[in-house]
Amino acid sequence: AEEVGGKDKEVVREYFNNSGFQRWKKIYGETDEVNKVQRDIRLGHSKTVENVMKMLTDEGSLQGVTVCDAGCGTGCLAIPLAKEGAIVYASDISAAMVSEAEKQAKEQLQITNDDQSSPPTMPKFEVSDLESLKGKYDTVICLDVLIHYPQSQADGMIAHLASLAESRLILSFAPKTFYYDLLKRVGELFPGPSKATRAYLHAEADVERALQKVGWKIKERGLITTQFYFARLVEAVPA
Ligand code: SAM
Repeated sequence: AEEVGGKDKEVVREYFNNSGFQRWKKIYGETDEVNKVQRDIRLGHSKTVENVMKMLTDEGSLQGVTVCDAGCGTGCLAIPLAKEGAIVYASDISAAMVSEAEKQAKEQLQITNDDQSSPPTMPKFEVSDLESLKGKYDTVICLDVLIHYPQSQADGMIAHLASLAESRLILSFAPKTFYYDLLKRVGELFPGPSKATRAYLHAEADVERALQKVGWKIKERGLITTQFYFARLVEAVPA
């Protein structure tokens, strides 16, 4: 029998190895070759990364803490985590993304100072869909990945991520609120040329229910919005 959602996943993998890779590498990068919308999304996404780093460092030092960054993209989160001393396992379904993340980590985590007392550990990068990840990590983080999957598949993904986490799970997703739902519908009426994948919105209550089903509860919530970027951020812990 074919895996449920196997086809969605293949489409996502293909997209993020090709046109999606080019598009998102630009958005997550620093070059000026972005349009107004892409620049706005870049800003929103960087706020999400900042929020996550603050959530984590507010709870204590990351020195030696194991973190699984599932769907790591170009390494926007994996790299700052490593700078804070975390032991990072970063993976993505797209081989193109993983090699870009690895390249950027090598550039940015280069030890410049010989007498640095505790140099960052290079993240361990791997091509893997999050459903195939194994092991146990203190913290599991999955940012802006659920948007590519309907809630029916997101439930299983959330359950699997929670099973890998010992003390906390941080997720971000596009919230299904009236306003954003409307924006998205308008977007579907007038699809842009580069919108190659569907975007799925998730109701916070559905995500919370998926977490509760596997014995987790939400401890902290955040909301990041710019003009074109919306993300609900949740930190969950064992109930
Ligand atoms: N988390 C990164 C960040 O916030 O910078 C990247 C976000 S990007 C919008 C979505 C990423 O999820 C892409 O790199 C894509 O290849 C990856 N992805 C999509 N489906 C995945 C899956 N099932 N397992 C692992 N990665 C996946």
